[in-house]
Amino acid sequence: MQVSRLHRVAVIDYDFCQPTKCGQPCIAFCPPVRNRIEAIKPGEKGFPVINEVLCIGCGICLDPDTPVITEIGLKPIREISVGERVLTHKGRFSSVLSKSVRAYTGPLYRIRVYGVPDTIALTEEHPLLTASKRRDGRGFTFAWKTPPELTEEDYLCIPVIQADGGLGAFMLNGNTGPDGLARSLRPQLTFELGLSFGYSLANGCTDCVKVVFGSTRESPAEKVKEMLERHLGIKTKNGGSGLSAVNPESSANPFGESEGSKRIPLSFLSAPLDFLKGIVLGLACAGRNGVTLRISRNDAYVLKLMAAKVGQPLCLSKTTLEGGKNAYVASLVEDKKITSWQGYQLHPIDSVSIEYVKDYPVMNLEVEEDESYNAAGLVVHNCVKKCPFQAITIVNLSEELGKDLTHQYGINSFRLYRLPYLEEGKVIGIVGKNGIGKTTAIQILSGHIVPNLGRLDGERSLYDVARVFRGSLIQDYMTKLANGSVKVSYKPQYIDMIPKVVKGKVGTILSKVGSGDRVNKLIDVLELRNLLDRDVSVLSGGELQRFAIAACLAKDANAFILDEPTSFLDIKQRFKVASAIREAALSGNMVLVSDHDLAVLDYMSDKVFVFYGEPGVYGIVAGPYGVREGINILIEGYIPDENVRFRNERISFQLKPPTEAYEESHSALYWPSITKTYDAFRLEVDSGCIYPGEVIGIVGPNGIGKTTFIKILAGVERADAEFQLPYRVISYKPQYPEIRDEKVEAVLRQAAGSKFETDLYQSELIRPLGLHKLLERNVKDLSGGELQKVAIAEALSKDAEIYLIDEPSAYLDVEERYMVAKLLKRITRERQAYTFLVEHDLMVLDFASNRLMVFSGEPSVRGHGSKPMDLRSGFNTFLKEMGVTFRRDHQTFRPRANKPDSRLDRQQKAAGEYYYPTPTSE
Ligand code: SF4
Ligand code: SF4
Repeated sequence: MQVSRLHRVAVIDYDFCQPTKCGQPCIAFCPPVRNRIEAIKPGEKGFPVINEVLCIGCGICLDPDTPVITEIGLKPIREISVGERVLTHKGRFSSVLSKSVRAYTGPLYRIRVYGVPDTIALTEEHPLLTASKRRDGRGFTFAWKTPPELTEEDYLCIPVIQADGGLGAFMLNGNTGPDGLARSLRPQLTFELGLSFGYSLANGCTDCVKVVFGSTRESPAEKVKEMLERHLGIKTKNGGSGLSAVNPESSANPFGESEGSKRIPLSFLSAPLDFLKGIVLGLACAGRNGVTLRISRNDAYVLKLMAAKVGQPLCLSKTTLEGGKNAYVASLVEDKKITSWQGYQLHPIDSVSIEYVKDYPVMNLEVEEDESYNAAGLVVHNCVKKCPFQAITIVNLSEELGKDLTHQYGINSFRLYRLPYLEEGKVIGIVGKNGIGKTTAIQILSGHIVPNLGRLDGERSLYDVARVFRGSLIQDYMTKLANGSVKVSYKPQYIDMIPKVVKGKVGTILSKVGSGDRVNKLIDVLELRNLLDRDVSVLSGGELQRFAIAACLAKDANAFILDEPTSFLDIKQRFKVASAIREAALSGNMVLVSDHDLAVLDYMSDKVFVFYGEPGVYGIVAGPYGVREGINILIEGYIPDENVRFRNERISFQLKPPTEAYEESHSALYWPSITKTYDAFRLEVDSGCIYPGEVIGIVGPNGIGKTTFIKILAGVERADAEFQLPYRVISYKPQYPEIRDEKVEAVLRQAAGSKFETDLYQSELIRPLGLHKLLERNVKDLSGGELQKVAIAEALSKDAEIYLIDEPSAYLDVEERYMVAKLLKRITRERQAYTFLVEHDLMVLDFASNRLMVFSGEPSVRGHGSKPMDLRSGFNTFLKEMGVTFRRDHQTFRPRANKPDSRLDRQQKAAGEYYYPTPTSE
């Protein structure tokens, strides 16, 4: 086997690290440190520092033949690929994120445990999850121990499958019927059926076992009876109480026709407990002292896990049959050696043997959130697991990638691999999650950071950097940046900082940055004319954004770099900005844009670079790709040319709006026609209603009264004619989340109350939004995206009946937007709440909304809000006003904006279908 070397990345998040509170277990438990090799040691003020050369990545420790249960059966670790789902210590299946290999020299420990047929072989430094009896005899305590630390009193832990897939029935393949078609039937998975299957598997006596099926309602029972007799030749007799019974001697064998072809379906692991109990008992009772099963090793493990799930200690051992074939002996254990404790089945250690190996390949899997279950043990990274504040991340990347390191912020800090580049006359888009280096890349390409190529020992010049990228377009760009022939104009991501450094009136500032003609054109395209006399310090978010874009594009430069130019803009403004950006590239200029609105990025870009990695740890640049291919890669979460899966789920779009019907009912919430008059603005909203469990999306230009309507519903503003909604408890997320001097945990605890501690709350809200890592942080120190997620979680934590959510997607990346949209829809449905969602991102509206209210009018003068309408009518009404049509990508079904006056644009406008056309075959 070829052993590839690894490029180790150890990152410590010093915002989370609290060395004075934790006792520094990361250092105390490090295997090399125990051997006096300082792989991790205290640095300044006690904060640990990991030496990536001395660190052995002690999570990589298993013999390549170690069996691992995957969703499709047992496999040696060497055959498992990234993306496959394996059983984890939490008793559920999770995807493999990466697989690591290293060459190991030293003692290899082979540990045999009672009741499991295979040994687990691992390196000496790696810890296993063990349990030992408490002194007071009341249960067990868990501890991670390295092989040399194991004692005879220790037990290894096998996770009990938690997932109950709701598999209530099982397809029995029947004989071929008279019409020549193969038949199948779906009996309920009862205890008796399991018992029968257990006997059948063991070839045991079946005299006393009957499968009882059917129901007290006559017709289904009769149907099953008829199917059994007709297609499987199984005779049934009346078992009384309207039930029928069948002797399983004649029943079809669900595990295969012959002994050699027996196979236990892995789906049985998620079958009802009664059924599993039946199988295990049926199997074991077939022979008092054990049954020899001619089944595969895979099936032996499946049986073991079934038994663990029903709390039945089942002991398996290997034997060799005549002819040299392996078989397995299963027996119920009566001596209580195997026992269950807190989600694990505990198996005592039988023996430990040691073998010295040299350059022996050892492996491990990184599994999403969990550790994988390998043979009889659970193994993890050491310091990572020991840190109580989740401050350490260790990642093993390929050595090849190590050569592409472009920039590293410091020791044990974030690093960026590779760079995107700009091209003359092209708009280059960059996409990817937050926190994986897009802004770092932009800072490098705009000349604000000189990349250090991972060398932290001194400054590099841009010429040095250019030489490293010899032969590529990056070399050309960096050389020009160094000699001043590339002049960059840059718009930063956080525009709220602009008023702190730029003082004066909009018109005056713009007239100073560029030529009159160009500035004038931008003022018109970006609708800034009525803002020219305003001071920059009083501009709203959307106004500030358009001003910043105009200032960037007006400059006398030949490279324009814009970081998130669509935040705070409405859809019409976004497309206008997109046109202005495209225009900037027409005269041969270079343009690079980073944005999370995929529809707009798709519309304006010629090529796309995709960023992937782990937020705060590392980012890798892939590409360039054609714009359609690049965005589809992001949607699919898979980079075909690098064979890298960076997300387990694809983001799925709906081709047609959902057809949900609501009936007028007393539980619907009605509002009358509403008007609200200010000095210079008047809002009118049609009467309407919202049904329980419904999300109403609110869409329309900025400055047209959407937020005012929400505030009137929330009781924050008063309508002209006061009205009384049947108000219940309301939860409101404002457009601009409040910045407080409080810990995130305190904010969320206060909103969630006692349910903060529950698993459901943690798994429903905290983990999906990644807030578990922010709990210790102060709200005032959070980034825009983090603050947004905390505000969303705070609003959804409250047990309200009405949720008013204003622009949740600002600052969130594509994945986070998708997650928030799904979360909103699910929580609203489950709580039967009423939710109003103001949003500019069509994708979020499409995912989350059941119906739409469309706001129109003249910004800052008058606004009109429609009645709620179905999604198709809502999008058509809104996009007709905007003059934009969308076709669908045939692979991902994501909406793609048509070029104005293109064939499709004209066709769809004629058909009145602006958002849900039939898929094209592009
Ligand atoms: S992964 Fe952590 S515990 Fe293991 S060798 Fe490296 S620093 Fe030490
Ligand atoms: S265990 Fe975690 S919190 Fe404690 S010093 Fe180590 S990294 Fe920091």
